[in-house]
Amino acid sequence: SFDLKGKRIFVAGHRGMVGSALVRRLASEDCEIVTVARSELDLLDQGGVRRWMEDRRPDAVIMAAAKVGGIMANDSYPVDFLYENLVVQTNVIEAAFRSEVQKLLFLGSSCIYPKLAPQPIPEDALLTGPLEPTNEWYAVAKIAGLKLCQAYRRQYGVNYISAMPTNLYGPGDNFDLGSSHVIPALMRKAHEAKRTGQQTLQVWGSGRPMREFLHVDDAADAFVWLLKTYADDGHVNVGSGEDVTIAELASTVVSVVGAAASIAFDPTKPDGTPRKLMDVSRLFATGWRPAYSLRRGLDQTYAWFLEHVEGGD
Ligand code: GDP
Repeated sequence: SFDLKGKRIFVAGHRGMVGSALVRRLASEDCEIVTVARSELDLLDQGGVRRWMEDRRPDAVIMAAAKVGGIMANDSYPVDFLYENLVVQTNVIEAAFRSEVQKLLFLGSSCIYPKLAPQPIPEDALLTGPLEPTNEWYAVAKIAGLKLCQAYRRQYGVNYISAMPTNLYGPGDNFDLGSSHVIPALMRKAHEAKRTGQQTLQVWGSGRPMREFLHVDDAADAFVWLLKTYADDGHVNVGSGEDVTIAELASTVVSVVGAAASIAFDPTKPDGTPRKLMDVSRLFATGWRPAYSLRRGLDQTYAWFLEHVEGGD
């Protein structure tokens, strides 16, 4: 196991939803959290990343910096999702190795798996079939990242591991309707419907796809747990182990927000992959479990939205 006591932990991407949850979670560990502002270090700059890492010499790195977005953003900006993720993750992983970082945790996503993977999706479904076309750019980059960690492990014997979280949501999420994921999008739409007295709420697609969700504070807790305890070769799925239809999610969000609107489906928008429930038995076998139910997580996230997004922050 990797004891965090007295260690310097670099959280790459600390301003993002996942990175900021990691900073909150690590605050309760006896370690030093290292972060760097984007204005000070551009992770796309290989030389800059090498020099910065050599100078700051963290003991461990959590790679939470990534270009992320929902189904429409992925489809519209394929270069950004492929190029930026490939370059940023390669720079950080390579610089970490050069600076003798002892432990590195690379974060990916459930979209690395084939579109028609068996459900729930076991870790070994990786690279067994074609990807979901709406997010293959991001998926290809993340697959390369986890393989690079595995390659460093095989070639140099370092303890670099990867975790693949399911769809995450919570404080710090992106609530912009053009680029957000489904939970913040539906929360904002339900909130607007409530505010304006609008009768219907537009939900993209058929409502039939199923998705698994995990509150970002649960995800951060699992990541810190894996950083401390996990040292095996294969990547680890991080999820709640339960999924809901988009239609069920939409009615739960409407109820959380307290909107009166009825739900209308927009079949001109894509459904994406039909289902992506993670097989979390590898993670759950370590004893870890999430703390939030979906309902409580949505209540907590709506409270955060009201205070920080709608409230103007
Ligand atoms: P995905 O998990 O990679 O497909 O990404 P999303 O979180 O963007 O979408 C999940 C599912 O929610 C898809 O089936 C979407 O069509 C559906 N969905 C329904 N309404 C919305 C919406 O307003 N925004 C987004 N992003 N997805 C929506």
